[in-house]
Amino acid sequence: MKLLEGKNAIITGGSRGIGKGIAKVYAEHGANVAFTYNSSAASANQLADELSQLGVKAKAYQSNAASFTEAEQLIKDVAADFGAIDIVVNNAGITKDNLLMRMSEADFDKVIEVNLKSIFNMTKAVQRTMLKQRKGSIINMSSVVGVKGNAGQANYAASKAGIIGFSKSMALELGSRNIRTNVIAPGFIETEMTEKLDEKVVDGWRDAIPLKRGGRPEDIANACVFLGSDMSAYVTGQVLHVDGGMHT
Ligand code: NAP
Repeated sequence: MKLLEGKNAIITGGSRGIGKGIAKVYAEHGANVAFTYNSSAASANQLADELSQLGVKAKAYQSNAASFTEAEQLIKDVAADFGAIDIVVNNAGITKDNLLMRMSEADFDKVIEVNLKSIFNMTKAVQRTMLKQRKGSIINMSSVVGVKGNAGQANYAASKAGIIGFSKSMALELGSRNIRTNVIAPGFIETEMTEKLDEKVVDGWRDAIPLKRGGRPEDIANACVFLGSDMSAYVTGQVLHVDGGMHT
């Protein structure tokens, strides 16, 4: 069953990893997909071609999620190209890990800008369109680290915890207009990035997870299908932990 047939979605950071997984699964479920990237133009355009072959409309946009004006322009462009905007998945994110002792001010600010301010930028930009439509689903990507904290990731944890507070506030502000805002908190998700890590270290991580495996981008994408579809019509302000039981 195609759960997103005819819906238009924007996914930030769709060129790699989890965002790419969400874009593919969304297209398989019949959604038209507009997705952004920061610098990976070649892989973004290749993905847009792949998605189009599934019979949906798909387009890649170069847009820095940390920029307020670029987010505004993106929403204008997508509205012009696609019409309605039913779903926004704020997935773009970065890490700049270090112990506090060695963390620079620039690395703290950058992570907050890309991971947290981006969500303010995108929500503010799409708000008017969704208010007019009197419907919309916004899905924000947090992390188990935003819920539990992690040594060496104070900037990242702060940005991901901030996303939860922001999203719960949006659920309260926008609920009366049928705009839903939910959060996904992934655990350890295996992507191209984790393939480069030492297998022994990764095995140790897997063993500590109750479901005894790392997550796949599709695990997160499936949760995004639920939260973007009408199956979750009565769900807002929630944090869905997709982490194999890491946070229990
Ligand atoms: P990834 O493989 O590093 O991909 C990041 C994506 O975000 C890329 O498409 C990148 O575009 C894009 N991006 C980076 N900075 C951007 C900016 N300023 N503006 C627009 N797009 C930007 O990351 P991932 O592992 O898939 O993670 C995706 C999300 O899930 C992130 O928010 C991350 O914090 C969260 N998460 C991941 C894990 C995990 O285990 N992987 C766990 C918990 C939460 P380019 O390709 O152009 O650089």
